[in-house]
Amino acid sequence: MSGKVRTRFAPSPTGYMHVGNLRTALYAYLKARSAGGTFVLRIEDTDQERFVEGALDIIYGTLRETGLLWDEGPDKDGGFGPYVQSDRKGLYLDYAKQLIEKGAAYYCFCDKERLDEMRAVQKASGQAPHYDGQCRELTPEQVQEKLDAGVPYVIRQKMPRTGTTSFEDVVYGHIEVENSTLDDQILLKTDGMPTYNFANVVDDHLMEISHVIRGSEYLSSTPKYNLLYQAFGWPLPVYIHCPPVMKDAQNKLSKRNGDASYQDLIAKGYLTAAVLNYIALCGWSPKGEQEIFSLEEMEKIWSESGISKSPAIFDSEKLRFMNAEYIRRMTPEEFFAAAEPWIDQAVKTPCDKKVLCHVLQQRCEVLGDIPAQLPFVDAVQEYDVEMYTSKKMKTTPETAKEALTALLPVLEELQDWTVEKIHAACFDLIAKLEVKNGWMLWPLRVALSGMQFTPGGGIEIAAIIGKERTMERLRAALAKLG
Ligand code: GLU
Repeated sequence: MSGKVRTRFAPSPTGYMHVGNLRTALYAYLKARSAGGTFVLRIEDTDQERFVEGALDIIYGTLRETGLLWDEGPDKDGGFGPYVQSDRKGLYLDYAKQLIEKGAAYYCFCDKERLDEMRAVQKASGQAPHYDGQCRELTPEQVQEKLDAGVPYVIRQKMPRTGTTSFEDVVYGHIEVENSTLDDQILLKTDGMPTYNFANVVDDHLMEISHVIRGSEYLSSTPKYNLLYQAFGWPLPVYIHCPPVMKDAQNKLSKRNGDASYQDLIAKGYLTAAVLNYIALCGWSPKGEQEIFSLEEMEKIWSESGISKSPAIFDSEKLRFMNAEYIRRMTPEEFFAAAEPWIDQAVKTPCDKKVLCHVLQQRCEVLGDIPAQLPFVDAVQEYDVEMYTSKKMKTTPETAKEALTALLPVLEELQDWTVEKIHAACFDLIAKLEVKNGWMLWPLRVALSGMQFTPGGGIEIAAIIGKERTMERLRAALAKLG
């Protein structure tokens, strides 16, 4: 190996980018970037039954959106391609044959019927299902005979029957297993496709991957992979297994709850940068108190020594909080661009989106909070005149009538319909009448929205919905007040 840091993200095209997968991608990316190394994208599609249409677009799209740009991958040859496993199909048989010659693998001709029967017997006697090793004992002549006769075969790994296999993981430390517990797993399937268990080893070696970063679900299989490395005489990569990302102590994040994938979160109105920042902290702690990091900042400070082995809890409240922080930090232009699609989805009539965004930016934690705040834009909501009663503002339907009657001609006269001008007009009148602000502005909000809570007050609403609709709504309110 060249001594250069090369990491890879190796997703299977399942049509879904689980936040745990995205975190793995992020850590592999950060490891490469922080070490001046190379980040490789490899598509692991050898399990064709799991292939989902459009899945590749989700992988590419998510990595691009989040900025986890790969240096080598299916569309970017770095001399180690192809980077899609099904395109590498031709090379695995050769390596599997090498293992057979070295005595680390063997042909297995057992058909489905025999395997089903074998498993049924194992199940009945309370054993975990495993291959019983019948074909391990075939002589070279018997094997040749079957090959000549064209009997379909798989190639299995020949596990040692005694001893132990161990390795050091950066996060989990010393891992050791009894070889007798290892199943003679399939390396190459009948159709010539490698299993993940074989392909990941061959490809990580051929692609000169120096650090294998992946989920802890692969921890227990890694000794089997290491036996393959040993048989080939290949150097081992450094292993960095990452803790699972859980909903709580017992439950995984689930597709059904719609909280498990990057796409789910974006659909709910979370910001890409906030999601990336938050998932970085699911299982990794930077030194110091800072929690808000851009990708570039993370690249500078990232170290695998900060990865913890306890399961990471995906705290939606914390993510919301962080997202709110990102929203507050956006420039008005950035917020406008992000919020506009959500406004358009909720509002049918024209309105001043700039003013709307100005008030919304302080009033939402995720963009998905926007639509529920906007029904007032299209129409005054059905309300009872008692809504004009406010103890705090010292208002009643009667005072509201008085206030709105005074306000109507003032606004009617106003030419320049901006927040500043409406504000000035209202406050001039408040001063002139020597009333409290709320005495005037509470009724204005109710009359224009029919809602107790709105983003912004009556003045902003007037600006948002425009002069014509403001006048109409004020007249309608006065009619309602008798
Ligand atoms: N294709 C595997 C997955 O999607 C990758 C495992 C690995 O990184 O080695 O889970």
